[in-house]
Amino acid sequence: MKIFGMNVFNDSVMRERLPKNMYKSLKNTIENGLPLEPSVAEVVASAMKDWAIEKGATHYTHWFQPLTGLTAEKHDSFIAPTSDGRVIMEFSGKELIKGEPDASSFPNGGIRSTFEARGYTAWDCTSPAFLREEGVNIVLCIPTAFCAYTGEALDNKTPLLRSMEALSKQAVRILRLFGDEETTRVSSTVGPEQEYFLIDNAYYEKRMDLVLTGRTLFGARPPKGQEMEDQYFGSINERVSAFMHEVNVEAWKLGIAAKTQHKEVAPGQYEIAPIFSVTNVATDHNQLIMDILKKVANRHGLVCLLHEKPFAGVNGSGKHNNWALGTNTGKNLLDPGRTPHENAQFLTFLCAVLKAVDEHADLLRASAANSGNDHRLGANEAPPAIISVFLGDQLSDILAQLQNGGLTRSKSESRMNIGVSTLPVLRKDSTDRNRTSPFAFTGNKFEFRMVPSSLSIAGPNIVLNSIVAEALCHMADRLEQAEDFNADLKKLLKEIAVKHSRIVFDGNNYSDEWVEEAERRRLPNICSTVDAIPAWITEKAVTLFVKHGVLSRTELHSRYEILLEQYNKIINIEAQTMLTMVKRQIMPAGLKMIQSLAAGISAVKAVSSAPVSVQEGLLNRVSSIVVAVDESLRALEGKAKEALAMDDVFAQGVFYRDEVFTAMNALRVAVDQLEELVDKEYWPLPSYADMLFKL
Ligand code: ADP
Ligand code: MG
Repeated sequence: MKIFGMNVFNDSVMRERLPKNMYKSLKNTIENGLPLEPSVAEVVASAMKDWAIEKGATHYTHWFQPLTGLTAEKHDSFIAPTSDGRVIMEFSGKELIKGEPDASSFPNGGIRSTFEARGYTAWDCTSPAFLREEGVNIVLCIPTAFCAYTGEALDNKTPLLRSMEALSKQAVRILRLFGDEETTRVSSTVGPEQEYFLIDNAYYEKRMDLVLTGRTLFGARPPKGQEMEDQYFGSINERVSAFMHEVNVEAWKLGIAAKTQHKEVAPGQYEIAPIFSVTNVATDHNQLIMDILKKVANRHGLVCLLHEKPFAGVNGSGKHNNWALGTNTGKNLLDPGRTPHENAQFLTFLCAVLKAVDEHADLLRASAANSGNDHRLGANEAPPAIISVFLGDQLSDILAQLQNGGLTRSKSESRMNIGVSTLPVLRKDSTDRNRTSPFAFTGNKFEFRMVPSSLSIAGPNIVLNSIVAEALCHMADRLEQAEDFNADLKKLLKEIAVKHSRIVFDGNNYSDEWVEEAERRRLPNICSTVDAIPAWITEKAVTLFVKHGVLSRTELHSRYEILLEQYNKIINIEAQTMLTMVKRQIMPAGLKMIQSLAAGISAVKAVSSAPVSVQEGLLNRVSSIVVAVDESLRALEGKAKEALAMDDVFAQGVFYRDEVFTAMNALRVAVDQLEELVDKEYWPLPSYADMLFKL
């Protein structure tokens, strides 16, 4: 495939274009996380520039991921003036490894005051540079971390890289205990499955709510929803097919192995999944995929909606974050393996994950919290807000036996010896997958299914990497002191199995019984973003992140502020959008309907004695709903104003959730009732049926 990776300054390009010793030195940096020598950076920059210019690039940018959850770039051209008035194309090692975009308007949660407003970007050389075609412009993009001049992280990439480092360190310690002297690095690997909606641009443009907030704030239920179950994996229409083909081509050019695509459960909903890669690369790629989806959709007269809940009444969108642990020797540590020895090691990592998820369920939940996901979690379409782990029959059985102090039998094979080191071969679990679990073991990886569709996957993976690093660290601390490794490992796994088996649940996560059962097990059930966010700044969280060098106390507090601020701003924008739409579009439509009914009634009465009871009945109903709309409008207006005047960011968040959001829902109910009665000709907004079924 000629196009795959054609726009990436990848390993083979580097090998081809860099002098051998420079290439080796860069590889060493990439693989072992060593600092990059300035002399090497100079040579790499020059080769990168030549490659980019040959491919038509005129500009370069440090491409970074501020805490808006989006990506940011500021383009600089390669052109540099010479003393005799000409220009040359220039790009130095310094410009490659460090940038100073200023970028003082990105969220920083108090880390940067204006007098020290400088922000720096620094090249993440483990994620390859690439070219972006933006119309006629071709830009060399250098994936970078973004920090304040004090070194504090202002982005998602920095803590993600730090968490990968921490995880690698602890995982290698465990591997050494199992006699593995070969592995020098363990990286988490991620394959994110991305869901999204497509609608026709003509409808999108007519909906201020979609344009400004990414979701419909009004809309009566259409006569048909997803009840026929005729969408999932259904055949894809030609327009969407053409779109998907182009998305794939764009992704392939950037070296993103987009692999599967299919229709999802809701009408108008689709999914794209790439083949997994190392976490920081997967995160960059997921950001690029979201961008590609949007841009390519526009070329096809479509709009791609990445919001978690664009439409009420049908499923929303999420991301499934498939996560595993890969060694630099090519092994997946979450693969059960073929020998008893490998299996004992596998169980050790498995228990580490269980311990991590149980001890830090609140953080995992917080990492998947945003206002959009509040519409999904627990709403019978997505996992509940309660974190639990699905293991499947075979592993659950083994866990139960570990709790009893050893392994004597296996469900799949009747023979089994006592003692961890003599576990028999585990077979890939053939039991049906549990689609309702938020955190499911799926054969050789865990699938974290709570992640919101629009959010960067950095946050969830920062948490996953860090909490598993902590669990492994705890286990390594113990086992490194062991006199009899096998006996002590067995004891430790038993302890973990006993203490943390409460996090395992293989049943139906959508059921009410589970909510009750989870309460009995004392598992947290955190139902909203506002309640989830404080998990970032508990003493437990601060201790964890500081210990592993992932996030400092200041950085955590800044994130806490930013997340709450973002939530509050989003709800405020939604509320203001509703107010504007009602005042300028919906109310006028209702009044027009009243006007027309009244005129019709007088007209009929003027010329005949025909009954007008139907018209009068309708007039009364429309009028009373219009009154309700007006009352709800005023109520929302009052609450929104009150919220804006609050200055404690957390109290404001609570108020937005409990008061403003509730008032928004009441307004929506009234408006949706009105939509069902008002003549389609008067109604200013495309209906759900139009948007979801006409493509
Ligand atoms: P499904 O869950 O639909 O059965 P797959 O099992 O093929 O689909 O995987 C879904 C996603 O999980 C893909 O993006 C795939 O690349 C990813 N995946 C597979 N193995 C790993 C791994 N070891 N680490 C991380 N992600 C993985
Ligand atoms: Mg999946």
